[in-house]
Amino acid sequence: MAMQCPSCGSAHIQPMSVVHANGTQHFHATHTAVTLDGQFVQGSTQGSQATVLAQHCAPPAPPSPIPFVAAYGLGGAVVYHAATVCDLFERGCRVGMSAMALLLYNWKQAAIGLSLIAFGWLLMKGWHAQAKVYSAAKRQWQSTWFCHACGQSHLRG
Ligand SMILES: [Zn+2]
Repeated sequence: MAMQCPSCGSAHIQPMSVVHANGTQHFHATHTAVTLDGQFVQGSTQGSQATVLAQHCAPPAPPSPIPFVAAYGLGGAVVYHAATVCDLFERGCRVGMSAMALLLYNWKQAAIGLSLIAFGWLLMKGWHAQAKVYSAAKRQWQSTWFCHACGQSHLRG
């Protein structure tokens, strides 16, 4: 059985991933320039260029884990700071206090750090849900075909 577009019957159909790959060009360019004091400098440009059609057939973008990683990192740093740093000019802070005692002493800062970590946990839950949606979308994209004749895309099982 020949592969045909269900909308117009054309045989000129390709998977989205193929259309995307064919329309995307990765380039690596090197350029040499001379600076004002007569030195040669070399720079290079790397990137990819996609045609409008390739962009139309681009895979779904994965969700970024950066927000929750950043919230965890920042929260961890604040808690660590609260457990290790003591302002010697303040009353009640002594050299050699245990991390636990310092945490209690700097409880406001520790609370801020802990709420940042809690916030990071919420962001991670959201990211998890997005990642599930993304993998479903990615699977669908992998079995979606594009018709060059009518411009419609359709799923093939
Ligand atoms: Zn078609």
